Amino acid sequence: MIGPVRYWREIPQRYRYEAARCSGCGKVFFPPRLVCNACRGREFKPVILPQAGTLETFTIIRVAPSGFEDQAPYAVGVVRLADSVKVTAQIVDCDLETLATGQKLRLEFRKVQQDGASGVLCYGYKFVPA
Ligand SMILES: [Zn+2]
Repeated sequence: MIGPVRYWREIPQRYRYEAARCSGCGKVFFPPRLVCNACRGREFKPVILPQAGTLETFTIIRVAPSGFEDQAPYAVGVVRLADSVKVTAQIVDCDLETLATGQKLRLEFRKVQQDGASGVLCYGYKFVPA
């Protein structure tokens, strides 16, 4: 069993933002998947995601799911990364009152929970103001 801090350090930087581009049609998936939903292709090449993006839509979560109660209210947004793939993630370190579509955000690999119940899902992707 490796602790969350060691787990975090052992994920190489390049893997944290790695997506998959379909060799058949060029569609980019993040997180990577096994079968392309556009052309049913099964061959992918790794691509590193751009971290900068634009907020396309968002919602404010006021009633949080179990384990996230202490974070509410918080924002979850759909962000288009450098005109390529769309990523849905929590937006942190932002002012919920002034958050707006079109805002520039940056994808970061961050701690999701202080202590995951399973000890597995402790880290994930979040957006912060650019
Ligand atoms: Zn495809």
